[in-house]
Amino acid sequence: MNFKNFPMVSKVVFGRGCFDQLNEIIEPKRQNERAPFIYFIDDVFEHNSNLISRISLRYEDYIIFISSKEEPKTTQVDALVDDIILKTKALPSGIIGIGGGTVMDLAKAVSVMLTNNGLSEEYQGWDLLKTPGVYHVGVPTISGTGAEVSRTAILSGSKLKLGLNSDFTPFDQVILDPELTNGVEKNQWFYTGMDCFIHCVESLNGNFINTFSKTYGQMAYALCQDVFLKDQTIEENQDQLMMASWHGGMSIAYSQVGVAHAMSYGLSFVLGIKHGIGNCIVFNHLEEFYPKDVVIFKNMMKKHKITLPTDICKSLSSKQLNTMIDVALSLTPLWENAIGKNWKTVITRTKLEKLYLKM
Ligand code: NAD
Ligand code: ZN
Repeated sequence: MNFKNFPMVSKVVFGRGCFDQLNEIIEPKRQNERAPFIYFIDDVFEHNSNLISRISLRYEDYIIFISSKEEPKTTQVDALVDDIILKTKALPSGIIGIGGGTVMDLAKAVSVMLTNNGLSEEYQGWDLLKTPGVYHVGVPTISGTGAEVSRTAILSGSKLKLGLNSDFTPFDQVILDPELTNGVEKNQWFYTGMDCFIHCVESLNGNFINTFSKTYGQMAYALCQDVFLKDQTIEENQDQLMMASWHGGMSIAYSQVGVAHAMSYGLSFVLGIKHGIGNCIVFNHLEEFYPKDVVIFKNMMKKHKITLPTDICKSLSSKQLNTMIDVALSLTPLWENAIGKNWKTVITRTKLEKLYLKM
């Protein structure tokens, strides 16, 4: 047995308003006046002076506003790296990603690609990166993905959607300030929050479960139920969902996700459906695999009056449907976790096709 030995985020600060400490936290990491801090910020904040005015740009520091309409691509990472190398006279002192999973994954990926040669597509997989990246900081502004704590940066390449999984990927510093999640739109809050709930369900019900994952997973699972089923204050919900995201991420770090994630990757690759909503669309039809939790999920949808798109696969060509099935089937560890070593006897192409056509 080879036990996983994995790195964690080195430093983390938590608290409402702690974003104010960002400047003093990063300043000692400045290499020199020519090595800037580069801020990747979700463009939803472009005109939000409350957030932008709290960032003190010094010397050559600058901001790049990032659209999170689409999930990060390898070509986007490579273009950002080229742009930074052209613009800056020295390797940056740090990359600071402020946003959701999209912006945080881009920040992680660019930080490691600044110090590893070649294209990011060459590093999609496990432990392919050779050199530590530049100092990188994650500041979530929406809670659920666990991207702030994970050792991956998920990217879509020309052939596949797969992360840069490595010991160099996790953030050196994370700022957890639940106040930054003010303003998240309700549906998006639900979809990204459900990513966390589904991480827990898939981790806790999987074959790879162990006490390390279980303890984190149970904590996050309970927090999600409080947030989405109880009547709590906004502040309680924001604080708890931010910590649920963290614990949910820690839970899957030592186990694996399952059926919803495998099938959602297929939806995302063929239809460009984003991770959070994609997971919800799939999970809504997974009674067979997660009976108790699909009931809880439907109750949560009802309480928050969430309606999901329907018939999204109905008009797909058979080629598209087959690609979707191929992508889902390629994720062996997820199926082994969810079903077991003999998963291929249960998860056939016909079975997946039937499930996709229900969605
Ligand atoms: P996101 O980053 O795509 O953001 C979703 C929407 O919320 C965007 O429109 C964004 O502008 C908006 N938003 C964010 N913060 C806001 C705020 N405070 N106020 C108003 N609007 C705000 O969503 P996400 O669900 O956090 O991330 C999805 C991405 O995360 C996917 O690319 C997925 O692959 C990735 N992911 C990564 C990991 C990992 O471990 N690295 C895990 C799960 C998912
Ligand atoms: Zn997820």
